[in-house]
Amino acid sequence: MIQYSLICENRHAFDAWFKNAAAYDEQVVRGIVACPICSSQQVEKALMAPAVQRTGSEKIALSIGHPQQAQLRAAMKALKDKVTAEADYVGDRFASEARRMHDQEIEQRGIYGEATRDEVAGLVEDGVDFMPLPNLPEEHN
Ligand SMILES: [Zn+2]
Repeated sequence: MIQYSLICENRHAFDAWFKNAAAYDEQVVRGIVACPICSSQQVEKALMAPAVQRTGSEKIALSIGHPQQAQLRAAMKALKDKVTAEADYVGDRFASEARRMHDQEIEQRGIYGEATRDEVAGLVEDGVDFMPLPNLPEEHN
């Protein structure tokens, strides 16, 4: 099984599981994959779908019961721990720093921080290659 972060033509982001990459291609072609929010079948893979757009009423993709849930969550935690241990925290300046790096105004380095929905959408539009950090349930206060 592989998980893809998908986005529909209306920019709704959601995650879906597929047996393999070929199964994803086949199901999209056959129109089986539909957006859970607006039912659009015009969907494509999105790299940072969970952070693309999140309004108050927008649904957040969640998962439970996968046989490897514990390992997958541990892997996500390891990813987050690695990034936060090796990158510089820039807080609210993430979007501006990421854009300056993308525009080669400053040297490339690992950074992490926070951005608003609008900032994230702007970075996506500008083709800045970043990734979301997982928000893990046990970290919610
Ligand atoms: Zn949609």
